[in-house]
Amino acid sequence: MKFLGILFIITAALFSLPDEQVFADEESETRMALYKKTSALTEIPWEYIAAIDQFERQVHDDPNEGRVTAIEIDPLFWSGSAGKMPADYFPEGWGADGSGDGKAKLNNDEDVLWAMGNYIKSYGTTKDDIKIALWNYYKRDLTVQTIMNTAKVFEKFQTVSLTNRDFPLPLQANYSYRSTWGDARGFGGRRIHEGTDIFANYGVPVKSTTYGVIEMKGWNTYGGWRVGIRDIFNIYHYYAHLQSFSDVKVGDVVQPGDVIGSVGASGYGPPGTSGKFPPHLHYGMYQDNGKNEWSFDPYPYLRKWERMVKNK
Ligand SMILES: [Zn+2]
Repeated sequence: MKFLGILFIITAALFSLPDEQVFADEESETRMALYKKTSALTEIPWEYIAAIDQFERQVHDDPNEGRVTAIEIDPLFWSGSAGKMPADYFPEGWGADGSGDGKAKLNNDEDVLWAMGNYIKSYGTTKDDIKIALWNYYKRDLTVQTIMNTAKVFEKFQTVSLTNRDFPLPLQANYSYRSTWGDARGFGGRRIHEGTDIFANYGVPVKSTTYGVIEMKGWNTYGGWRVGIRDIFNIYHYYAHLQSFSDVKVGDVVQPGDVIGSVGASGYGPPGTSGKFPPHLHYGMYQDNGKNEWSFDPYPYLRKWERMVKNK
């Protein structure tokens, strides 16, 4: 038993990195049933309800006890402003009894989802209506964009349980990388190096590591030709110094293994500048918490995804 306990701790440690929150199937099934029920009652497609929940799951540190969904609603939104705020600002209060127990409770999954669904429905049920409702609720462009993109991913794969990952380069390619988090850059002045450089030959395919949406594609003086993918965990994955792009466009949904471009040495000059340093993929990761975005070290994740692919 003792051995099993230790094995469990080791396994838990290996699988507890934040963007790899693998929920038990049972729990994601329970959540899916709640999303679909709310959708049936409010006519808001389930993937938007699920995407709002997914966004808030990454924003709040501790999930509420006894709940499976993560949306935390402002009491002012719930109860109404009762004259304390201008009347067009949540005048009525959206708190609602979705569970049918006769009470509208802020800590009841069904009540919260139903209230949120009703609020959105008050704007309408089209994609644009939902976007406006989200903007008026969150008042932050990146939040709205992330939720809309996550909904796109959920709609495409028809599930919220998306646990597969890939390494950004084919494992059979000749490549090398090491942990260089926080090192001074060889190029770009005194900025701290925010990412991992994976050295490889020109033209080696570069793949999406995760499920997400292409958020950015184009040239930047330092990064050269680069692609940015926002995943369903509010994490932005940044691929720089590419030699070429695949035919992906901004707004496309991608999954692990989709080729987005190839390794190059572009950057440090006007568009097209290349060869100022050895070819490599610069891989960066940025977490958004609904207020700010910050970079963190991708190295442990790259190692983990490399292992996942090897063990397949
Ligand atoms: Zn780099």
